[in-house]
Order: sequence, then C-alpha cells, then structure tokens
Amino acid sequence: MTNNLTISSKLPLLFKEFASIYTIDTESPERERSKEILKLMKTKITDLVPSNYYVKGSVGMGTPTPTPWIGIRDTDFTINFRNGIYIFYSFPEDMSALHLAIGQGTDGLKEEVGAAAARLQLTSNAASLQHIFKDTIKEKKYSKKIYLKSTQNRASSYEDSVVIARNYNIEKLPPEEELIDDLKNIIDIYPKMVVALNNYSQTIKINNDASDKKLEKELTKKLKKQYKTSKSQEDIEEMLENLTETDSTGGKSSGRNEQQLLRQLLFQNEITFKCAICREMRPVNIMVAGHIKPRTKCTFEEKTDPQIVMPICKVGCDELFEKGYLIIDSEGYIKENDSKQYTSDLSKFIKNIVGNKCEYFNEHTSKYFQYKYDLVKNKQ
Ligand SMILES: [Zn+2]
Repeated sequence: MTNNLTISSKLPLLFKEFASIYTIDTESPERERSKEILKLMKTKITDLVPSNYYVKGSVGMGTPTPTPWIGIRDTDFTINFRNGIYIFYSFPEDMSALHLAIGQGTDGLKEEVGAAAARLQLTSNAASLQHIFKDTIKEKKYSKKIYLKSTQNRASSYEDSVVIARNYNIEKLPPEEELIDDLKNIIDIYPKMVVALNNYSQTIKINNDASDKKLEKELTKKLKKQYKTSKSQEDIEEMLENLTETDSTGGKSSGRNEQQLLRQLLFQNEITFKCAICREMRPVNIMVAGHIKPRTKCTFEEKTDPQIVMPICKVGCDELFEKGYLIIDSEGYIKENDSKQYTSDLSKFIKNIVGNKCEYFNEHTSKYFQYKYDLVKNKQ
C-alpha cells in the first residue's frame, strides 16, 4: 500500500500511513518514506489554504523530532513558526492521534524571556483567547488541549501554546471532506485570534513589536531578492527558520531576527570571511555583522540597509571599533583615536591595522562612518 500513495491519495490515508511508519531512526528507510508522505500532505494542504499562507512540514531540524508537525501560517502575521500564532497539525510521540490546532510560536518567546516566563505567558495568552472565543469553542466542540505524550520540554511548550484543537484518533479519522471542513473552520478563526490577541494587550509578548516585524519583513524581502536566482522559495523559508536555530550571535532579543538577517545578507553561507578592519581572514563564527553607525541611532531605512553593517572579527576589531579605539576617517583610513588612552601593548596590537584603508568605506557608507567618527570624537 505504501508505494501506491500519490498526490491524489486522500488525506486520511496519508495521515494514517505517515503515523504508522514514522520513526526517529535516521538510518531507517521508513523515515525517508515518511518524509515523502509528509511532502504529499504538505502539497495537498497548500492547495487548501489561502495563497499567502506558508505550509511547512517538519520531522525535526537537525535532530529528528518524536512529534512531527505541519505548520500553516499567514505570512502577513508572522515571519516564522517561532513567533506569533499559527495553525498546525501534529502527532503525539506514540502516533496514536492527529491534532489540528491553533497555537503560539514558542521558541522566540522562550529566547526572549526564558522558559519559565514563556510558559506562563503562553498559557495566559491561551486562556485569554479561550475566554474570548468561548462561544465558538462550545458551538464547534473544540478541545483546549492536545496531548503529545512526550517527555520532551519542547513538546510540553507546544501543548502549553495551544488555544483550540480538534483531536482525532488516528485509527478513526473522519473522511477527507470532514477533515477539510475542520481545517477551513480553523482557517476562519485564525485571523480573528491574531486580532484578538493583539487587541487585548498592547504589551503582549508573543508577537514581536510592530516595528521589529516591519524591519524583519523589509530585510527578508532583501534577502529573498539576493537569493532569488540561487534558491527556491522553500529553501529560503527553511534557511530563515534555521537562522534563529543555529545562530546565537544576534545579541539583544528584540532586534534578534533583524540582526540575523543582516548577518545572512553579509556573510551568506561563507565559512570564512575577511575582516573589514584588520583584513585578516577569519572563521565566520568568530565574526559579527557590526553596525558602522550604532543601531540605536539608525532610522528605519538605515536599519534595513544591508550596508549598515560590515564584517568585523571578534579577535579584537569588534570591540576596538565599537569603543572608538580604532576610527575611520573621512577618506576611509583606519586611525588611532587621540582622545583615547592606549597602553603600549594595545598600540603594538593595532600597529599593523592603523593606516589600512577600510574596504567597506565607499560613497554610500561614508555617511555612516562619519557619524561614528563624530560620535567617538564626542561631536554628537
Ligand atoms: Zn579583525
């Protein structure tokens, strides 16, 4: 039966077959087969949702997950599955059920406020939304919980995040028409929940604040443009999802995605890169996309200008530039700052750097360098 599944197979059959063969054993051919079925499910679901929705199937990024899922999100509401509210299908660890739910992104919040506070926030958001939508929940007989039957922390956050759910026994899935109906009903409620969540609290933590989201959107657009010829839409989405997974160089939580997008725009997928200050080749993981003009002083346009950053190594250059021990003059030359105190050892350290021309100095970036120069010379 497995080999006969195609894009025209009915959804209940696909879900059931996926659940029956899914394994976290990466050596198993059944895992590969389950990925193929996941793709079929994803394609079918993509056809059922509005065109601006993005559908992603996940069997775990890097490490296989015991609780695979398919996320469905409106790309206007959130730029990834780590933040905001989205729809998802998920399977419990024992694969005995299928859940269709509206839940909240958990990872972004955890990173921002820590696991314990995130849990409180997720459950409190869920409770508030369940209260606001109590009539719908009653009328449509929605559950307020899913049961992933897993000991993984990640799985319990997913459970905490759930607002409403339709839980099916995998052995007793309804016919396809009914599954589709359920999905359409959930799609009806989804935007209303996003609006409700944003309305009931101005300071709600689950969504990035509006300006951060605007920044991310603008940068995502630029990133997609950069990758347009070389990568598929899906690859870009995957990469964007992975950015925050693997990269911890972002710094402050609120500007996190923005910083990572800038970083991706600058370093792309290179392993090594030349430092703009010392001109030495360094591994990218000990480099930063350093703001030429301090981020806090930047306008929106400047924050979303890929040239606002340059590659700077953490082998000293990052700190020395940021703190104003190395300055770049109006012609792009790297200088010592005579209003700073240098130890003789530090002077020795920067001896070979001073006098270099910074390759990132150009007509476009000179204004950013000028601002920084004036700032560290106490003119601003
Ligand atoms: Zn350097």
